[in-house]
Amino acid sequence: MLRVDREKCVGCGGCAEVCAFGAICIEDGVAVVDPDLCTLCGTCVDNCPEGALEISADRAEPEADLKSWRGIWVAAECRKDTLATVSLELLTRARQLADRLGTDLSAVLMGYKIAPLAKDLISYGADRVLVVDHPGLAAFTGETYGNILADLARRERPEIILAGATAMGRSYIPRVATLLETGLTADCTVLDIREKDRLLLQTRPAFGGNLLATIVCPRHRPQMATVRPHIIKAGRPDPGRRGEITSISVNEELLTHRVQVLESVKEQAKGPNLTEAKVIVTAGRGLEARENLALARELADLLGGALGATRAVVDAGWLSDRAQIGQTGVTVSPKLYIGCGVSGAIQHIVGMQGAEIIVAINRDAEAPIFDIAHYGILGDVKEILPLLIQRIKKERG
Ligand SMILES: Cc1cc2nc3c(=O)[nH]c(=O)nc-3n(C[C@H](O)[C@H](O)[C@H](O)COP(=O)(O)OP(=O)(O)OC[C@H]3O[C@@H](n4cnc5c(N)ncnc54)[C@H](O)[C@@H]3O)c2cc1C
Repeated sequence: MLRVDREKCVGCGGCAEVCAFGAICIEDGVAVVDPDLCTLCGTCVDNCPEGALEISADRAEPEADLKSWRGIWVAAECRKDTLATVSLELLTRARQLADRLGTDLSAVLMGYKIAPLAKDLISYGADRVLVVDHPGLAAFTGETYGNILADLARRERPEIILAGATAMGRSYIPRVATLLETGLTADCTVLDIREKDRLLLQTRPAFGGNLLATIVCPRHRPQMATVRPHIIKAGRPDPGRRGEITSISVNEELLTHRVQVLESVKEQAKGPNLTEAKVIVTAGRGLEARENLALARELADLLGGALGATRAVVDAGWLSDRAQIGQTGVTVSPKLYIGCGVSGAIQHIVGMQGAEIIVAINRDAEAPIFDIAHYGILGDVKEILPLLIQRIKKERG
């Protein structure tokens, strides 16, 4: 919480002036903080000339305890007999971070009949895999997975835990953070290390994607972050890599849960999956009318790709929200992205900037999408798309 040292405070009001949340006022010549409005952003602390303000963590761990947490963990995710791509991406980045910290990298693999996947995690960089293989974990529930990971972390004390910001990760990782009474930064786009104090620098879009905030967790362990799939590129596996595989027995008490999974039904999506597609044609508001979507769809079909959308198109009801790319949609990294009448708002760009080649069609030369596009076509998308389609058909005979 934010504390005011009444001895030092001279009531100058500088803190109230810089507080963007109106959380501080001056009463009887001393700064008074409204804890309901204060976000602990620290701006007032940095601006107080008297050093009268301090953010103190009531339940901060003593310095010595922080040092007793060592090693990086990746909570791996798998469905049936396949590891989620995001787990391999995270291992690639976590390997680099672990090397900089001079520490070990472990993967935690939970599920049923999943033990054979452990060696793949080693080939992607893990030094050690903790395998929790139990029939009670055949169906995923946030409670059981959360209980087990938190229990393991309490015993083994990793300083960092990373997980995918997938439907699964989003449902159980917050539980782990709560059980361990530590912080969690969701949906990070960049992870880095500050070696001098071993802090994980967790960067993610903030304030509606208008700026990037780097978040640290200085007083609690483990430091926890989730990262969306396709933000990081997975490295090449090294099948010859050696590591340790440890089988963990489960305390049955941790398997109790209130949710009973009756059946799992895989959704049958039409066309290529957006997150896996090599080519994505994205429909933007510049298509002007729902019927013009047919042009973008035809181009996507011709290129064997998927049809994506901006939020403007989804909000207009032209396509379902599953097609939405961006901060509040999916993150994609195709080989080729073609934006059709897409302006390039930051909230959209954060979801597609990993594309290898970006082509933008827009009639406004100042549209921000041209700042990140490798190829730009200036003109009316309704005229350009038919020409492109015609040309591709002609080239193919
Ligand atoms: C918290 C928050 C989260 C958000 N999350 C997302 C998200 O996940 N994904 C997302 O996409 N957006 C998101 N948005 C919305 C985002 O800010 C933009 O409003 C949105 O991306 C704009 O979509 P657009 O590019 O299709 O439309 P516009 O911004 O309206 O752009 C249309 C473009 O088409 C061009 N154009 C118009 N007519 C033609 C024509 N005939 N031929 C060629 N070009 C033409 C225009 O010049 C313009 O550049 C979010 C916003 C907020 C506040």
